[in-house]
Amino acid sequence: MTIFEKIARREIPASIVYEEEDFFAFKDNNPQAPVHVLIVPKRVIAGISGSQPGDAELLGRMLVATPKIARQLGVFESGYRLVINHGEAAGESVPHLHIHLLGGRALAWPPG
Ligand code: AMP
Repeated sequence: MTIFEKIARREIPASIVYEEEDFFAFKDNNPQAPVHVLIVPKRVIAGISGSQPGDAELLGRMLVATPKIARQLGVFESGYRLVINHGEAAGESVPHLHIHLLGGRALAWPPG
């Protein structure tokens, strides 16, 4: 079981900020910005590379929820960034698909 599945099952604690039936969002425990949450499907999708056509509707709803989550966290007006890391060079560390939502400060571009 992935660490994010355990969070979804409330087996390990996290600060959950948003929840729907099949996905949820919680605060990253090593935040890279004043607002840093992860939007995660409750069932395991093994990263963006493990996503299948049957996951498209869920992934679409996760993306569509991001402005609402950003508003709730107070970063919609100032701006925020969505990130999905794939592979070692991008720093992917948890093999369970997640969208980072970062905001609350000016974010450099290109990213480091
Ligand atoms: P990535 O490097 O893109 O795979 O992102 C994984 C993210 O999960 C990192 O930003 C970690 O800080 C975060 N993370 C790992 N374990 C936990 C946890 N138990 N609670 C909250 N965030 C976590």
